[in-house]
Amino acid sequence: MSRPPPTPLARRLMAQIGHDGPMRLDVFMAQALFDRAEGYYATRAPLGRAGDFVTAPEVSQVFGELIGLWLAHAWADLGLPPRVNLIELGPGRGTMMADALRAARRAPGFSEAFALHLVELNPALRAEQAARLAPHAPVWHETLEAVPPGPCLIVANEFLDCLPTRQFVRMGEPWHEVEVGLGADGLLRTGLGPAMTAPPEGAPPDAHLWESAAALPGLIEGLAARLEAAPGRALFIDYGDDLAARPGHSVQALHRHAKVEICDHVGEADLTAHVDFGRLGTLARKAGLDVHGPATQGDFLRALGAQARRDALMAANPDQAAAVAEAVDRLIHPDRMGALFKVLCVSSPNLPPPAGL
Ligand code: SAH
Repeated sequence: MSRPPPTPLARRLMAQIGHDGPMRLDVFMAQALFDRAEGYYATRAPLGRAGDFVTAPEVSQVFGELIGLWLAHAWADLGLPPRVNLIELGPGRGTMMADALRAARRAPGFSEAFALHLVELNPALRAEQAARLAPHAPVWHETLEAVPPGPCLIVANEFLDCLPTRQFVRMGEPWHEVEVGLGADGLLRTGLGPAMTAPPEGAPPDAHLWESAAALPGLIEGLAARLEAAPGRALFIDYGDDLAARPGHSVQALHRHAKVEICDHVGEADLTAHVDFGRLGTLARKAGLDVHGPATQGDFLRALGAQARRDALMAANPDQAAAVAEAVDRLIHPDRMGALFKVLCVSSPNLPPPAGL
């Protein structure tokens, strides 16, 4: 099959690889996603029907509303601090936070207590967030580290799946790391690096393919420092699993709702990988944090009252009832998003258990 012509970013990476040699997959992924001039998340508004993928908050308002109730509950778990940093990592179009804050208005005092902090790199998405969240006076940051200290509530939906991922394979022994280099046609292609002297960290003995998000340990360290200095809890929702139990290939590129080759459409396709919830939980526990979950998204949303909220919305909007039911089904049914997506909560030690987990 003929390949699409290389994008301007691909041409730049081709020149760089021609000069320096092949690059690790996570390094390629970081450039393809976050290059300041031409990376996927630097340039486009990727979400929604006109974009490349649709996320849970864009499927149904019920998702964000239940997150709002969860946040209000978590605020109470922290002892109702009069000031709390409400932090979202990768807020997309701001839809989840807008729905959450509308629902959380029912919790007396919460609206006065929170200061909204959004961690977002993409200027186009920052503009959409500003449009939806202006009444809540958000402050933007490039990293979690930049958010001021204090008690905090953190939410992240489909954020961790963007973390640049290393990939390793073996056919027998030894292991090799997957790299991006140049094919005979001069275009970008994946290949194998030199033989490794030891297996990649975390890979189960019988695995033939192993993936790991290179930046996850650093992210958890930063989170742990914050949650040790002041009470807080963080909710991560993403697609993934305990990868040690099911190792396999999950790095994928999505362009206009279709899967494409990882090395094609560079900077124009979203690159993601399954989140390793097993490793996430282990790293957080090692850092001294409490971990609840992972639960499936379906179980989590049902425990928070998804069906009751769906029924109320259907009764209030009879002409939309079928669409409301269909959207909520998409979120919670195990054959749809309900089982593939998982929810994990990480907390400062000794807080009450979080809602829904
Ligand atoms: N949470 C939203 C958007 C998911 S897409 C939703 O559910 O609809 C991923 C989001 O994370 C985008 O907003 C993207 O720009 C942001 N993002 C990804 N990696 C990031 C990083 N390292 N730093 C800051 N934002 C990032």
